[in-house]
Amino acid sequence: MSEQSCLFCKIIAKQIPVDFVHQDDRSVVIRDINPQAPTHLLVIPLEHIESLDEASQKEEELLGHLLRVAARVAKGEGLGESGYRSVINTGAGVGQSVFHLHVHVLGGRSMNWPPG
Ligand code: AMP
Ligand code: ZN
Repeated sequence: MSEQSCLFCKIIAKQIPVDFVHQDDRSVVIRDINPQAPTHLLVIPLEHIESLDEASQKEEELLGHLLRVAARVAKGEGLGESGYRSVINTGAGVGQSVFHLHVHVLGGRSMNWPPG
């Protein structure tokens, strides 16, 4: 998918109005439009990377940053005590539907393991 037609690139470019829970020089965090838990956030890099599979060595620092932001916003949502799940779907076969890398942060309910 090209950046021009990418939903998350459009959100980052503010072509689609969405409230940002967090913004910094490398990422934004939004609320998932179809939440799967009481708290369901998406940590999205500003840079268009299609998936974790597409992230190269030069993105190692960015990947670490996304996970640290995930922890920070989870705590900001009050999930520090109860816990939260951070998920990256890679590939349509396991549920990736937007081909711009993102980390799901889910919490506020009990969860099973393994996931379905
Ligand atoms: P994935 O299926 O892992 O690629 O995750 C994509 C997520 O983006 C899904 O959980 C969708 O519900 C979510 N999503 C799709 N469109 C929007 C939107 N306009 N605003 C916020 N979240 C969205
Ligand atoms: Zn994109």
